[in-house]
Amino acid sequence: MLIKYLRPCQNSDNIVYLASTYMTDLQKLQQVNIALKRKFKDRKLVLGHGSVGARIVFVGEAPGAAEEREGKPMTGNSEKLLNQLLRSIGIDKKKVYLTNVLKYQMSATKAPTPKEIKSHVPFLKEEIKTVSPQVVVTLGNMALNGVGLRQPLDNIHGHVINFGHYELMPTFHPEMALMNPQVKILLQTDFLKLKELLKAKPAIS
Ligand code: URA
Repeated sequence: MLIKYLRPCQNSDNIVYLASTYMTDLQKLQQVNIALKRKFKDRKLVLGHGSVGARIVFVGEAPGAAEEREGKPMTGNSEKLLNQLLRSIGIDKKKVYLTNVLKYQMSATKAPTPKEIKSHVPFLKEEIKTVSPQVVVTLGNMALNGVGLRQPLDNIHGHVINFGHYELMPTFHPEMALMNPQVKILLQTDFLKLKELLKAKPAIS
């Protein structure tokens, strides 16, 4: 679990309590990242990118070689499409937070195992809790599973699902949309729904 990677930590329950009581959100996020580095110390990690307090968190799947080189999630054509979609609904990309379920590169030949995904989930949940967005947009199936929903993406993409502290909107991964024009149309339509959702939720400053 995440807790045991947070330090100093004789009493794991207290750590969470102390973290939530006395630290700034940025410090809490740094703690999550330190905990990730401890747990996956043999891996080159690509951590979440953006500001604490962003209104929207986008969750992707896992970094690839290009992301590892650049040290941030979602580069290349997927990034371009995502930026284009953000622009189309009037969202400044600097005001979103972007992360992945897996924080290191997956094997090119093997899908991540459920155990591997599960080992990242507590970190992702803590990361989202700390950034504290109004809306989380999951990109693709793995991201949807990563936040804890095991439903077919085809049935629920573009829906708004209340997750307690935030609204979840699952949609497709830009990479899929780049390969399939029909998925691209669905993704664009989901972004229009995201625009409506944000309009209905005034920004908290
Ligand atoms: N790169 C990422 O950072 N995330 C993805 O989901 C795909 C490519």
